[in-house]
Amino acid sequence: TEIKELLLSRIRDVADYPEPGVMFKDITPLLADPAAFTALTDALAEIAANSGATKVVGLEARGFILGAPVAVRAGLGFIPVRKAGKLPGATLRQAYDLEYGSAEIEVHAEDLSSGDRVLIVDDVLATGGTAEAAIQLIQRAGAEVSGLAVLMELGFLGGRGRLDPALGGAPLEALLQI
Ligand code: IMP
Repeated sequence: TEIKELLLSRIRDVADYPEPGVMFKDITPLLADPAAFTALTDALAEIAANSGATKVVGLEARGFILGAPVAVRAGLGFIPVRKAGKLPGATLRQAYDLEYGSAEIEVHAEDLSSGDRVLIVDDVLATGGTAEAAIQLIQRAGAEVSGLAVLMELGFLGGRGRLDPALGGAPLEALLQI
């Protein structure tokens, strides 16, 4: 569609970043274009509404940039899932494996409760490791994941299959397939 072509045209490919052999998808041209950023926000907000979400979770850091306006547009609260050590209150913490080593993400425990239905928003789905940890975090908080919405899915990395069990039937919506 027209919107998808607009979004795709505002994503910049950066070769060999952050390391040799990686083609990095840079969304900063999209963010700098108000028509494209608005179209993206509207498309993700529609997914939030259709999924029956009560809250939007954004994954640090680009998930904050996309998720916050989606939450406002959909009339929902926004909850940041942050890299460990950044949130001041009582948190739940989830570790996950990276290509080399591991990482941890956190959420404020009081921000989620049973009865919440959460749409997770991020820019790129790659291996799915980050999203999988976020799903576990949300479920440990007693909330339900209503869906995962991303701008881009890097299909060749197999993230969708990896997330299948954790999502348990909740939709994974990617506006663009790469
Ligand atoms: P995953 O955990 O392997 O799925 O990686 C997803 C995370 O890495 C997301 O939070 C993305 O923001 C980031 N990421 C991975 N590849 C890219 C890319 O090409 N462009 C921008 N972000 C990326």
